[in-house]
Amino acid sequence: MGAESGHVTRAVVFALDPSPAQERLLRSYCGAARFAFNWTIAEVTGNLAVRAAERDAGVSDMTLTPAVSWSKFSLRKQFNTEKATVAPWAGEVAKHCFDAGITQAAQALTNWSASKAGSRAGRRVGFPGFKSRDKAKLSVTFVELNHQLSWLNPSRHGVRLMLPQALLHSKDAHVRRMMQQLVWLHTVESTRRLFQVVEDGRASIQQVTISHTGGRWQVSFLVRYAIAARPVKQPLQRVGGTVGVDVGITHLATLSRPIDGVTDEFGHVPNPRPLAAQLARLQQLDRGVARCRPGSKNRARLLARRARVHGRVAATRKMAHHMLANQLACRFDTVVIEDLNVAGMTHNRPLARALADVALGQFRQILTTECDDRGTRLVTVDRFYPSSKTCSACTAVKAKLPLGTRVFDCDHCKSILDTDVNAARNLEHQHVAGLRPETRNADPRPHKTTRAPARAAVAA
Ligand SMILES: [Zn+2]
Repeated sequence: MGAESGHVTRAVVFALDPSPAQERLLRSYCGAARFAFNWTIAEVTGNLAVRAAERDAGVSDMTLTPAVSWSKFSLRKQFNTEKATVAPWAGEVAKHCFDAGITQAAQALTNWSASKAGSRAGRRVGFPGFKSRDKAKLSVTFVELNHQLSWLNPSRHGVRLMLPQALLHSKDAHVRRMMQQLVWLHTVESTRRLFQVVEDGRASIQQVTISHTGGRWQVSFLVRYAIAARPVKQPLQRVGGTVGVDVGITHLATLSRPIDGVTDEFGHVPNPRPLAAQLARLQQLDRGVARCRPGSKNRARLLARRARVHGRVAATRKMAHHMLANQLACRFDTVVIEDLNVAGMTHNRPLARALADVALGQFRQILTTECDDRGTRLVTVDRFYPSSKTCSACTAVKAKLPLGTRVFDCDHCKSILDTDVNAARNLEHQHVAGLRPETRNADPRPHKTTRAPARAAVAA
């Protein structure tokens, strides 16, 4: 999503407030997408198994059953020829649902083979499994590039719900009235700004995903903005220089130097208050769920409530992350954060670390966008760098620092510091020439030069 192309892609999310009839329809859409996903996986694994068995039986490569193509186009074509038999109910949902499931499965297969071949970064991707009715996230994606504005109701509070084929082709007056009631999903917030930029041609909608996230329905538009049309934010007073950021659970984050109005005098950015309240409520609900009989109505009700609280916790933290990322990207020239835990190192670690990784992953994503928008340099430091075990005053490294230790006391220079502040200062010091900026935009060097080594040598 570099600026070279003159465009950036951003997600725009609105909370939805569907009627009971609309919600039933959405659930069946998500089910149809899941069905098509599972159909695709079954088709491909069946084909692989047949070919493997034939090979074992000594059939020559020339006479093997032909391989099923993994392209979404040919898979869709094949699904459509079999649709009437495998999904006789297909007319009751919008046809886009099947495309969504097949596209997703084709992508999962591509990811798997790329990962296997070693051409995909990150954690190893397993062969895609079936999505279960109980556990799969409810989500369906629509792609319709020709009639962009038709997604949004001019009233500014409606998003189009694609209707089932059976309804669309009905001549019955009663059915047509029912369609009128179904076609617009009410949004809580106004869609005015999105409507305007799309109407002006300054942005285009790439795809639309409706999902049940955090206990409620939402719509997420993938929007491609011309650079000039990006939302402009309030400028903040610049401090300049470098700041190290340690993302945590006890505090939202700790900065290597305090900012008035953002952090306390030590540099801690406190967790937002509603977050703490919701975390307490979450613990209470967890205890309630544990006391319920499995499969009981009470348990289902508590689980639904817990999903909504989880959703609020996530939303509150995300909002706080956005505000902090905005502050950092506006005020400093360079922001240094710790890198995510590298793939393969994620086993057997305490829960707090897992939670911190979730928060860190999201924060890093938001911060990347914010820094990219402002040309601020974002630098990540390898997780193997012992940021919390090193003394920020004398660089002596402690052999061991148990998780949860709040105070760092150096055995060498006897300085005593808060562990998070110490880690943040170490991150700031790690910003040295040769460290890799996170984004190309933030890289002040001409892009044609050869890249510096990925990471600076870490002082042992
Ligand atoms: Zn020291």
